[in-house]
Amino acid sequence: MRYSQLFGKTSKTVTKDAIVASHRLLLQAGFIRQLSAGRYTFLPLGLKVCKKIENIIRQEVEKTGAQELIVPTLHPLELWQQANRDKKFGSAMMCVTDRNKAQFTLGATAEVIMLDLVKQFAPSYKDLPINIYQFSQKFRDETRPSGGLLRTREFVMKDGYSFHVDEADLKITYQKYWDAYLSIAQKLDLKVIVVESDNGAIGGAVSHEFMVESKAGEDTIVVCSCGYAANLEKATFVKEENNSSEALKPLEQVEAVRGTTMEDGVKLHQKPLWQQIKDVVFVDETGRFILAIIRGDYMVNETKLKNLVGANELRHASDEEIRVTLHSEPGFISPVKLEGALIVADDSLLKLVNAYGGSNQKNLDLINVNINRDYQPNIIGDIAEAENNYLCSKCQKEKLKLIKAVEFGNIFNIGYTYSDPMDGNFVDKDGSLKKMYMGSYGIGIGRAMAIDVEIHHDDTGIIWPKNIAPYQVHLIGLDGLGEDLYQELLLKNIDVLFDDRDISAGAKFADADLIGIPIRLVISKRSQEKGGIEYKLRSEKESEIIEAKDLVSKIIKFYN
Ligand SMILES: [Zn+2]
Repeated sequence: MRYSQLFGKTSKTVTKDAIVASHRLLLQAGFIRQLSAGRYTFLPLGLKVCKKIENIIRQEVEKTGAQELIVPTLHPLELWQQANRDKKFGSAMMCVTDRNKAQFTLGATAEVIMLDLVKQFAPSYKDLPINIYQFSQKFRDETRPSGGLLRTREFVMKDGYSFHVDEADLKITYQKYWDAYLSIAQKLDLKVIVVESDNGAIGGAVSHEFMVESKAGEDTIVVCSCGYAANLEKATFVKEENNSSEALKPLEQVEAVRGTTMEDGVKLHQKPLWQQIKDVVFVDETGRFILAIIRGDYMVNETKLKNLVGANELRHASDEEIRVTLHSEPGFISPVKLEGALIVADDSLLKLVNAYGGSNQKNLDLINVNINRDYQPNIIGDIAEAENNYLCSKCQKEKLKLIKAVEFGNIFNIGYTYSDPMDGNFVDKDGSLKKMYMGSYGIGIGRAMAIDVEIHHDDTGIIWPKNIAPYQVHLIGLDGLGEDLYQELLLKNIDVLFDDRDISAGAKFADADLIGIPIRLVISKRSQEKGGIEYKLRSEKESEIIEAKDLVSKIIKFYN
């Protein structure tokens, strides 16, 4: 390809919101353009990278036995409703109505469509496992698309689905996908950390996310030097026992003219923060009030709480709701004698005696509050958020570290989440109908491309890993040279981008650095005087002169 003919050129101007490196560099180097918030056009250079990523994914995923197909983008809304998927996805779903008033949703993921498809073939145990996948456009009405291709409202995803006689059979395919994802990451030159995660909107039991450590990441993951890794919604830690051996003292109500913060409580009572009960009131999507309580120095993780109480969405209760519905007082909430809310206690409170906190009345506190004596939670579980330096629950020796990361891919063990409501059955050996056990597996293509740029770039531009570079060679011709070499490389099937423009050498070099093709060749009077063609890797500082006769074999060797 001649650069002069290439549609989509490099650009010096960038939009102000291009804060993360991949967003800025992909715009400047001419790989993408924004259409509207969270929606991007892939220009020829960008699409070439995407296709290479797709091919790597295709090769590896097919090793799991997966077969490629494609389903429509518009999904009948009633199918989503059958599985309650519309409620789980909530406002992120995009819907359209056709001329006959039939309602559709723009595919955000395709579990229900794929299950509906498989059902049409009335599978028997002999047909299972079924393992199918597609590359298709996905739509999610994200409230805040950000980071360029890292969080968009429309994107191509490789989504795979598997159907099994039982969980044991799923685990075989799940492991194959796990291995495939590690191979894909390796070919994309990405180091992944596999974390156990919350299933979120997909539903089901266990899942794993393949994360890449990056400052641009919106996710926080928790890691330990022992190898433990989990996302924040799943990470556990050892909860300290500070005073559990102390004798229980009698409950007392005391005057407490104070402000409404935790610190005000500490100051007034001159007791440690951890001994205070932290109370947070939430309201779920059904209007149910939930009081989450935890020891004072820990934070409530809302996803852990949602999972524990089976809620889809949570919001904080207003001061007025706390007064009117719970007959309590903001800043003085207490689980003791509280009515009208489901009380969910973090298990850290089991290790804490003689706690203190509010009394549901203004300027009155309770001291020596003890769980299961003075109040009885409806649910006790883990709703605490891990933080730096908390003790790892796996090795019980090392301290946890929180790092920023971005999700590269995920694999979900979704069990009967869809087969149950949708009657996703198969005929078993004895002729009986049984529910199929499901898994689903996703990788976003544009995001994978952006992650690669986040990991592989420098101050001057992108440094593409060789497996996904848009071209193999960036040829720069100076002093009117280059045309013959360009033709020769094409003949030898080298995929080459030839900068044939009549502009300064400096501008051509700057563009080559920005675009980031792994090998840069310069042919000029000077290089010829030195005996050949200047050969430089984008990842290296030094260049060398290669004789014309050795050039093609050197390029081929680099790519093999
Ligand atoms: Zn550990």
